[in-house]
Amino acid sequence: MGLKLAKFPAVRELSGFDFGAQPSVNEEQIRDLATGRFIAHGESVLFLRPPGVGKTHLAVAVGRGAILSGYTVLFTTAAALVANLAKAHLTGRLEDQLIHYTKPKLLIVDELGYLPLEEDAAHLFFQLVNRRYERGGFLATSNRPVAEWGRVFGDAVVATAILDRMLHHSHVITIRGESYRLREKRRSGLFNSFASLLPSAAAGSQPNPEEAA
Ligand code: ADP
Ligand code: MG
Repeated sequence: MGLKLAKFPAVRELSGFDFGAQPSVNEEQIRDLATGRFIAHGESVLFLRPPGVGKTHLAVAVGRGAILSGYTVLFTTAAALVANLAKAHLTGRLEDQLIHYTKPKLLIVDELGYLPLEEDAAHLFFQLVNRRYERGGFLATSNRPVAEWGRVFGDAVVATAILDRMLHHSHVITIRGESYRLREKRRSGLFNSFASLLPSAAAGSQPNPEEAA
């Protein structure tokens, strides 16, 4: 029931996460987050940095753990969230939508900063963050470092207000390393044979010294 309401995009569990492949992630810390305790304390979690490193996987796995601990969870992408708030604002239903996104004990917002937000959208997002502040948990993933959030929210004042609340009681987990997908492809030999056909992908991919060793 809780799993259905959460609207996860896919089934991703901690048991399927290869911590050995991702040394920048502390397994103990993730397992602790997956108990949902941070939700009871009104804390935030941020998974930051490059594509393919497992941010969404960990966000869903932590969300599933929280449901098992009895918390209500809602998963959304930043784009869908902001589009829904903007539409509700236009049609006079903003309050209903703010309640919709404030009710779950844990709100997971995936792909924040993937696209910069318009000024109005950033203000709507701020209203939501402000409402949720210290009431339940908040988990976001982003491919942008916190230092670039001024640009993400289009306005330094709004960005500061959002960050002030999101970072106040927070666990910021900066993941490093290369995309898990590309790594798997390289291992199977697929990536190397196609790399020459994909100049941009090949340029972005450095040889992994661990694998060479
Ligand atoms: P991100 O959200 O950071 O772009 P994803 O979480 O979507 O990355 O990960 C991309 C794919 O790789 C997903 O299918 C995910 O399950 C898988 N993946 C990423 N990191 C790992 C890992 N350490 N162990 C197992 N699967 C992983
Ligand atoms: Mg993702």
